[in-house]
Amino acid sequence: MTDTTAAARAQALLDRLNRALADRDFAAASRLFADECYWRDLVLLTWNIKTLEGQEQIADMLAAQLDAAAPVHLSLDERETVEEADGVVSAWIVAETRHARGGGHVRIRDGRIWTLLTTAQELKGHEEPLGTRRPMGAEHGIRRGRQTWQERRQQEAGELGREKQPFVLVIGGGQGGIALGARLRQLGVSHIVIDRQARPGDQWRNRYKSLCLHDPVWYDHLPYLPFPDNWPVFAPKDKIGDWLEMYTRVMEVNYWPSTNCLNARFDEDRQEWEVTVERGGETLVLRPKHVVFATGMSGKANVPKIRGQDVFLGEQQHSSQHHGPDSYAGKKVVVIGANNSAHDICAALWEHGADVTMVQRSSTHIVRSDSLMEIGLGDLYSERAVAGGMTTKKADLTFASLPYRIMADFQVPVYDRIRERDAEFYRQLEATGFMLDFGDDGSGLFMKYLRRASGYYIDVGACDLVIDGSIKLQAGKEISHLSENAVVLEDGTELPADLVVYATGYGSMNGWVADLISQEVADKVGKVWGLGSDTTKDPGPWEGEQRNMWKPTQQEALWFHGGNLHQSRHYSLYLALQLKARQEGLPVQVYGLQQVHHLR
Ligand SMILES: Cc1cc2nc3c(=O)[nH]c(=O)nc-3n(C[C@H](O)[C@H](O)[C@H](O)COP(=O)(O)OP(=O)(O)OC[C@H]3O[C@@H](n4cnc5c(N)ncnc54)[C@H](O)[C@@H]3O)c2cc1C
Repeated sequence: MTDTTAAARAQALLDRLNRALADRDFAAASRLFADECYWRDLVLLTWNIKTLEGQEQIADMLAAQLDAAAPVHLSLDERETVEEADGVVSAWIVAETRHARGGGHVRIRDGRIWTLLTTAQELKGHEEPLGTRRPMGAEHGIRRGRQTWQERRQQEAGELGREKQPFVLVIGGGQGGIALGARLRQLGVSHIVIDRQARPGDQWRNRYKSLCLHDPVWYDHLPYLPFPDNWPVFAPKDKIGDWLEMYTRVMEVNYWPSTNCLNARFDEDRQEWEVTVERGGETLVLRPKHVVFATGMSGKANVPKIRGQDVFLGEQQHSSQHHGPDSYAGKKVVVIGANNSAHDICAALWEHGADVTMVQRSSTHIVRSDSLMEIGLGDLYSERAVAGGMTTKKADLTFASLPYRIMADFQVPVYDRIRERDAEFYRQLEATGFMLDFGDDGSGLFMKYLRRASGYYIDVGACDLVIDGSIKLQAGKEISHLSENAVVLEDGTELPADLVVYATGYGSMNGWVADLISQEVADKVGKVWGLGSDTTKDPGPWEGEQRNMWKPTQQEALWFHGGNLHQSRHYSLYLALQLKARQEGLPVQVYGLQQVHHLR
């Protein structure tokens, strides 16, 4: 509801903040924040992805950054309404510094700022050629020897990586690398995205046959080019593959398929990378200034070492190697693991007449897709949200506006509602012996994803097969060994198997750094992903942001990009802006470079 009083109060508070910033009075500025307060900055002031918690951290950041960033100005976004509910005034803002324009969001409680989000959306003087700045395409008039658009593209493609080195090399051309490539193209950052697979989209095509996205279409759009209105809610994997391939082409991403990165080394003297790649049988050395690892959080397979793996006579596959159920009708399959992939794979195998057993070693968070869509995502990412005027950008920024420290508090009631709504379902599931959890603190799916990117299944039907016994379940049991023809559990239970699928997840992305650069550099940058929440698989100390993602790392000129489609879309902007600023030689001053607390 529009409330002019609330708007006036919010603007008055921002005016006082602007004055304190102009006066370089950091103490006064920080006192405009509540005792419990958060300032999340995406590149605008910190040239980092950083949440400051508490007045002291805010004052420290301002003291360090303000000279470089000034003049800084925040004001209400006049296109948006200011809302007041439960004693909190919420408002969209526009923000400007010396180098960038952006926006954000503020929540005000008892007259002081509780949460503030500031984001860079464009660099001054380096705005994207969009809207009124879009290229003409046709050059009207007559000029001898001019090149067509296509000829220019061909020339660029011919020179890049040979006569001209890219400023940025993106290793990995899945959805992450492709979205980043599109942003770099728009920003005029010289780049190549390489992938060892033959076609953009093969990352999805090569996954198991039954896979459909678990997240709905409204959550999944790529930058610049949203899916059309007839796009399925949960896109089948091959459709996503085709979309990525089309997108790569029309967004003019400089994409080298069938190109394997063999190794990379940072040349301190020349301040550039030396990256050896094999492209269609030819070995090339590329010399980019920056390297982005977009090699996928779900790329480095975790396969547990189990005694007897060399003795077992049947097939063994990691879930990423399992293409589908077709050849397993009538066969006995043991799937180790009980998360998304395990459930999807078990269900598809059962549909094709296999005898399937799922081995659950630790508890899993289960949320039914319908409930998640309605209660968890519906306000931001749904047809209902779109009908109510919600845009993808606004939804992304709303999500970003909640500091991670308090996000779990907002999620707990959501999952309490889901638990209540689906109480009978959960009761039946637990009655089978299935070990269920809602995260260490009851905060459910998103927090588990942000903290550890594992440990959940969005139920699209497989749970019913567990409940009615169609998928056999062995829960809470460790595996002793594999015999020639069975998986043997520690309690002596033998599970005869023709195929064992290890749906056991993936390792940290810095494992790729160890493989391609060195263990030393992998240790220098440390673990990738997680918040330091001190919950299962996300050890403390608290870090406030996801480790190493989309921001400067301890290794100069080395970056990580990835995540789900929502994150790839949203955070590719901030990563691209950071790279653009460096290409243009802007005086980038990074605040609060993250410390390394865990190696992997
Ligand atoms: C089964 C499954 C279901 C998922 N469902 C969803 C979902 O519904 N919604 C969602 O948003 N996310 C989902 N995800 C998570 C995530 O979005 C996907 O894993 C997605 O593919 C990640 O994109 P990416 O670009 O970060 O990495 P990837 O798609 O894994 O791409 C990484 C690329 O790097 C390449 N590469 C690696 N090493 C090299 C090298 N040395 N040289 C050259 N290339 C290299 C690989 O070939 C690969 O193509 C799912 C993941 C899995 C495994």
